Amino acid sequence: MAVDTGFKELHWMMGMLQDIEVGLVVVDRDYKIQIWNSFMENHSGKNALEVRGENVFDLFGEIPKDWFLRKTESVFLLKNKTFSTWEQRPFIFRFKNFRPITGTEEYMYQNLTINPLMSADGTVNHICILIYDVTDIAVNKKGMEQANTQLEIMSRTDRLTGLFNRGFWEECLVREFNRYLRTKEPSTLVMFDIDHFKKVNDTYGHQAGDEVIKTVADLLRKNQRASDISGRYGGEEYGVILINTKAEDGLNFAERLRQDISETPVTHHNQSIQFTISLGLAEINGKITSIKEWIEAADQALYKSKEGGRNQSTLHTAS
Ligand code: GH3
Ligand code: MG
Ligand code: MG
Repeated sequence: MAVDTGFKELHWMMGMLQDIEVGLVVVDRDYKIQIWNSFMENHSGKNALEVRGENVFDLFGEIPKDWFLRKTESVFLLKNKTFSTWEQRPFIFRFKNFRPITGTEEYMYQNLTINPLMSADGTVNHICILIYDVTDIAVNKKGMEQANTQLEIMSRTDRLTGLFNRGFWEECLVREFNRYLRTKEPSTLVMFDIDHFKKVNDTYGHQAGDEVIKTVADLLRKNQRASDISGRYGGEEYGVILINTKAEDGLNFAERLRQDISETPVTHHNQSIQFTISLGLAEINGKITSIKEWIEAADQALYKSKEGGRNQSTLHTAS
């Protein structure tokens, strides 16, 4: 019988490895547990005597067996070590997380290395699995990702209204324009502007003006469909992309919004402020060859609404 030197040495080293803050498990070719250090005892609640000789999959049903076998079998066959990180699998052994600082996480995140234990005759009859507690790292990284997502949302949102800001809204318009080029599905752009807004500021103050700008955004959200994309284009100018919408349906939307806004005064310091908007619409068509032209078409229509006496909607016509 071949003397399993490497394995014997490992037994000798167990004294040292007993107390390290890393899980150490040795299993044989049948996945029966041979070595189980104190880290594993503490976190699993099972002591070494109890688990010795038991099949690891029988004791720990949470181990994703097919995936784990693919890794370990290649270690047995190719005699190379292999790794797994918490990002691939959050954990292999479902251990409760007891760390005070990262206490929000229910389970311990784990990195894993699986090492072949070579016998004197060069065969590998045992593998050694090291389990690292990386909960702190995982929690930090996840926190960072959440912060980044938050930052991304903030960087595309207009603070006052909560609508998309101009930069992000224009990116959406580019996407919608390109979608039109591919699919030829209709889409209508609405640009609108609050009427005589300077007078609101001059009469009631800048704060009252801000309230009006916010209220218009609220009414816009109330009247649009979920798929429509609205943004604050400038001070008291707004843009709405009506996805999959023809001009006539766009006009319905515009008139509904205009009516709603004209009937919803803002109360500021006990003063009722009445206001209206003017709108311009342009449906995308083959004659419009750029974003700039599309915006200009809607803007021209908006100008006509202003010229025509304000508080009205105008559809851009090709002529
Ligand atoms: P018109 O009917 O032709 O649109 O008249 P108007 O007075 O609305 O015209 P104009 O576009 O020239 O005026 C817009 C004003 O909006 C000027 C600017 O001081 C004000 N404004 C721009 N951004 C803000 C803002 O964030 N808050 C407030 N309160 N006022 C703003
Ligand atoms: Mg205005
Ligand atoms: Mg304006």
